[in-house]
Amino acid sequence: MGNGPEGIEKVVIIGSGPAGWSAAIYAARANLKPLVYEGTPKAEMIPLGQLAYTTEVENYPGFPFGNIRAFVESAVDDDRHYNLPPAPKGHEKNGQPHYAVQGVELMELMKQQALNFGTRVVGDDIIDVDFDGKPFKLQTGEGKTVQALTVIVATGARANYLGLPSEEQYKNRGVSACAVCDGALPRFRNKELVVVGGGDSAVEEATYLTNFASKVYLVHRRDELRASKIMQKRALDNPKIEMTWNTVVEECKGSDKDGLTAVVLKNVNDGKRRELPTAGMFAAIGHTPNTAFLNGKLATNDKGYLKLTTPFRTYTSVAGVFAAGDVADDYYRQAITSAGSGCMAALDAERYLAEHHG
Ligand code: NAP
Repeated sequence: MGNGPEGIEKVVIIGSGPAGWSAAIYAARANLKPLVYEGTPKAEMIPLGQLAYTTEVENYPGFPFGNIRAFVESAVDDDRHYNLPPAPKGHEKNGQPHYAVQGVELMELMKQQALNFGTRVVGDDIIDVDFDGKPFKLQTGEGKTVQALTVIVATGARANYLGLPSEEQYKNRGVSACAVCDGALPRFRNKELVVVGGGDSAVEEATYLTNFASKVYLVHRRDELRASKIMQKRALDNPKIEMTWNTVVEECKGSDKDGLTAVVLKNVNDGKRRELPTAGMFAAIGHTPNTAFLNGKLATNDKGYLKLTTPFRTYTSVAGVFAAGDVADDYYRQAITSAGSGCMAALDAERYLAEHHG
């Protein structure tokens, strides 16, 4: 493998969310023949990124409500329709499907667009990096060493859990950090569920769960949501969502047979505790950037996100290594901002190559 001298890659992109694919599209169109390490479920990075776990994406420009399915099918090869979800029932207008693009569809489209321009994709992880000398050396999960003149890190972030020992005990048996992945499971149907958090994710997860649950308690540690106004309204207007303010989860309770059956809630103002029977608790309390594989070889900020060293550039602390998307962004964290920064990283890599290896 390798498209430069002596099998050295010009651009290796680590990550397969909107930042990774946008970087690949731009790098491929610049004839840099990028090599994308897509990640596997074994490692911390999520193949196709967090959008793979999202339902409707309503705010990605160019993807309004409409017959998106027909658009997706026209754009993606027949043999790659396998993981596109069917058009949701009941979402029709004038006899045509009428709904928003699904997260996984958006990622498949971006991937296809990158492939169309000659991007090469490997379904493996990068597990260690050596940025000390040039070319950079990347260790793959399968034990290979890949050499690269530039690297774009676009590994994203992953959902946090509360960190309670009892939470660990019931993970995948009632405790989850992804309503979209797990919410439709039979154990949660027509049951009372708990979502913890007060941001957009918490509201989104709670709203989604009302499709299956009899009731959703949105447990937030303060008396005001952090979520955007439109999302707040969605939660507050939903008759199936009950806000539980100034409250934290102290313990998860259950049994080997039934998994999670209750959570112990504590009111942070008066310290009073109560047990709330529930079949499911969904943590929606923010994210952690996927940087472990870098083993501290790039500088990070105090929250552990990759530090960008220059305003409006994707430069990291190592020249020739660029960062894009949520791995370097704890603030905007949108598909569109990730895609934009992926484009920026590819342009930065292209200019770096022209300057140093032209
Ligand atoms: P977030 O905005 O950081 O919110 C995290 C929430 O969890 C906060 O309300 C926080 O409480 C709470 N929290 C954090 N640690 C906690 C703990 N240990 N125990 C209890 N509560 C805890 O994260 P997010 O909701 O995942 O959103 C991240 C970004 O993605 C945001 O920019 C958001 O706009 C975006 N997003 C957008 C959409 C959308 O537009 N459809 C959907 C999802 C996410 P405090 O408020 O007290 O800090």
